[in-house]
Amino acid sequence: VTDRFVVFTDLDGTLLDHHTYSFEPAAPAIERLRRNDVPLILTSSKTMAEIMGLRTRLKNHHPLIAENGSLVAVPENYFRNPPKPATDRVWPRLMGPGYEQIVKLLRDLREEFSFQFEGFSDWDEDRVAVLTGLPRADAVHARERLGSEPIQWKGSPESWAQFTELLRRNHLRTIRGGRFEHILGGQADKARAMQNLLSMYAEREGDVHWQAIAAGDSPNDISMLEEANIAVVIPAASGKTLDAARRDSTLFASDPGPVGWNAAINEILDRFQLP
Ligand SMILES: [Mg+2]
Repeated sequence: VTDRFVVFTDLDGTLLDHHTYSFEPAAPAIERLRRNDVPLILTSSKTMAEIMGLRTRLKNHHPLIAENGSLVAVPENYFRNPPKPATDRVWPRLMGPGYEQIVKLLRDLREEFSFQFEGFSDWDEDRVAVLTGLPRADAVHARERLGSEPIQWKGSPESWAQFTELLRRNHLRTIRGGRFEHILGGQADKARAMQNLLSMYAEREGDVHWQAIAAGDSPNDISMLEEANIAVVIPAASGKTLDAARRDSTLFASDPGPVGWNAAINEILDRFQLP
């Protein structure tokens, strides 16, 4: 049985610079992963449509995890056994309820209980661009949602408690993002999506011991970091570095964003003597 690695990486503040969104400083380690045939899985709160643009710029042809683990998208033929050449078409698989179902429930709850909130489904591209600070073209992609709804809560903390309890009873949960509260399936998270993909790799090549390396900088990365074989904690640009996932196999990068990412991934590849 041989060991092989799969890298699951968060994007904002991890592979991408928090301010410039550049991945250039990580290019040497990205190239080294490619040389060693180590899949790099882009894992983000962004939508599949948003990730696809970056994936093209990275010349990445691997599966991806979008909307905080609400969905896993796999290139056509990627997990075929016997292998066939994979195409660049990707097929999303939902890890929880679909977008329309989530939005319908949110609207029903808002109507019945007079909750004060608005979400992406209430806004057009221009409004999303203003509220996110994204260019309009990117706001269009941010609205192409499949399994989670970001909202702005405008009610009281008491009604928030009632709202989240109702969500829980309806098998949904919330994740606090930088600007929005994200509503998604109760079982949907980055760790579960990671396990789902790992089982597909294991099914394709059973004589391989697949080891997960996960890199992240934020609370929504903790479950993924804890379940990976090797965790890479990137210091947060805010200065509040995750203290979770602290164990012997955890690497704490010394620099934020792609600079720290590059050094940490190189260190792991050195450790396993991958050229
Ligand atoms: Mg991040």
